[in-house]
Amino acid sequence: MTEQEKNEMAILKSKQEAEITKMRSDPAKPKTPEVTNIKIPKTPKEKEAPKKSKEYPFMVKLGKEKEIYFKPWTGKTKKKFKKIFEHIESEEDIDFTQILKVLVRDQISNSDTYLSDMEQQYLTALLRRESIGDDYTFEGECECGAKQEIKTSVTESVFYTQNNFPETINDITFKDIKTVTELQKVQEEIKSKADYDGLTSDGDIEFALHLSLGDIKNPMDILDAIDNMTLKEINTLMANFRDLSSKIDLKTTRVCSTCGRDTDYYASEIPDLFESLLQ
Ligand SMILES: [Zn+2]
Repeated sequence: MTEQEKNEMAILKSKQEAEITKMRSDPAKPKTPEVTNIKIPKTPKEKEAPKKSKEYPFMVKLGKEKEIYFKPWTGKTKKKFKKIFEHIESEEDIDFTQILKVLVRDQISNSDTYLSDMEQQYLTALLRRESIGDDYTFEGECECGAKQEIKTSVTESVFYTQNNFPETINDITFKDIKTVTELQKVQEEIKSKADYDGLTSDGDIEFALHLSLGDIKNPMDILDAIDNMTLKEINTLMANFRDLSSKIDLKTTRVCSTCGRDTDYYASEIPDLFESLLQ
């Protein structure tokens, strides 16, 4: 992987928030339901499952209430991906909205489903496994300072903790956002209000949408309530939110060939993603 590709991957990971903002100009279209002519009454699950599994053969649970059906990257994905990079001259030109659309949103059965940063990263790892391959190699460093080439796989190294929404702690319910459309609608509403403070970011609104404070359920009122909390209270709120949210770790345990200790090696990313799609 070249230095430029590594940089691009790092930016992809850090700028997921920008995606949500930019997606307003390119809203994901909800999949229109297909008309069925089944005469024998079936439960919706039985009716939908085989259809989904045919087009989207993989399913992953991202939370108590969140199941995602997805399909692997294809030659078409590669074409679309290469197209994004055709006229890139500097990192600022990279369209992350498009990258995430091509890599993740185009591969899931309902592209309007809201996905957090961690959920997108996890899905990218699974898509890489099912589309390119499971195995990868990275250079790990032991506490003793010795560097070692670690051969591992997505299956072995990716540790994912699914979100725990909905959960109520001290009268605050932490819940998931259902759709990208819902998020964008609230963001636009708040920012277009005459009394908009100009300080509340898309990220603040996104966070507020994850909360119900007792009787306060309206995002605008939640934002006001957060503004009036002490920083200590806000920190507790954020910590609780983080504890309940999805997490992803890339960890491989190997014996260090220099000091002989069992060592946990952490990869910063899963390599060969951009390479495979750009070659
Ligand atoms: Zn060592």
